[in-house]
Amino acid sequence: MNPAGGLARILIGTLLALAAAWPVQAQSPSQPAQEPALQARELAPGAWYVEGLSALGSPANQNFISNAGFVVTPAGVVVIDALGSPALAQRLLAEIRRHTAQPVTHVILTHYHADHIYGLQAFKAAGAKIVAHQAAREYLNSDTARLRLQASRTELAPWIDEQTRLIPADEWLTGDTEFSLGGVRFVVKAVGPSHTPEDLIVYLPREKVLFAGDLVFRNRIPFVGQADSRQWIKALDSLLTFDTKVIVPGHGGVSTNAREDMELTRDYLTHLRKVMGEAARNLEPWEAAYQAADWSRFERLPLFRLANRMNAYNTYLLMEREGN
Ligand SMILES: [Zn+2]
Repeated sequence: MNPAGGLARILIGTLLALAAAWPVQAQSPSQPAQEPALQARELAPGAWYVEGLSALGSPANQNFISNAGFVVTPAGVVVIDALGSPALAQRLLAEIRRHTAQPVTHVILTHYHADHIYGLQAFKAAGAKIVAHQAAREYLNSDTARLRLQASRTELAPWIDEQTRLIPADEWLTGDTEFSLGGVRFVVKAVGPSHTPEDLIVYLPREKVLFAGDLVFRNRIPFVGQADSRQWIKALDSLLTFDTKVIVPGHGGVSTNAREDMELTRDYLTHLRKVMGEAARNLEPWEAAYQAADWSRFERLPLFRLANRMNAYNTYLLMEREGN
């Protein structure tokens, strides 16, 4: 028996399951799909967010699949994440103008994933300063980023087109920073490499609002992908020390059960590492270890069927590498 072949079949099976579960939404030219609603909600005085759809990016949803936040101060507006297309970013700018005449002075990026950054050029044109962690530069200058954008020009046309560009930050952070704008205090913490090498979170101590990017997945199984789960758990532990009333995750609804949601993500990652770490150390074949593991605490969560096998497999490979 060839274990690699078995694993390849499992991977292909998982990919097919993903493809079947996320149908591409067709857009008929004679009947343009309705624009996805983009309406800001205020979470605390001056702190707002818009919630992306729980879906994969498609022409019909304009790639509106991630959240963005904005904080209105008397000296300008700070935006957290730039949404998934320039058109969406324009709509967010219009939404911001419904609530304040202040200009957007800063955009802070939680990480450089496509669905959080393709709107950047609209904010840049509006005069905002882009702030991100310097670990994103490697990705930004990589073929992966270039090819991803190229593919998006087809897959997400017309929302991503030849005019859509990858925008570097104006200020690259090397670690944590804090600043005040118009009397509002912003704590920016570098928590990568966890979901990505460049993860940042933005915390408002007075409002007790935490913009957590993709570090916190709410009430669902996270997609672990190539993430460094050891660092991710550490990052969650440090976020758990913040006094937080509301968490705005990178995807999905806001959480007022901040502690519970962070603990769920952390405990899931810890469980994956424990089970898959034991299997990797004992040179147990992956499939057998996966079948033998106890998933009962997590198997009722949304996306368990779609994500858990892939997460477990990626973690198995990670634990093999860490073991060396
Ligand atoms: Zn994301």
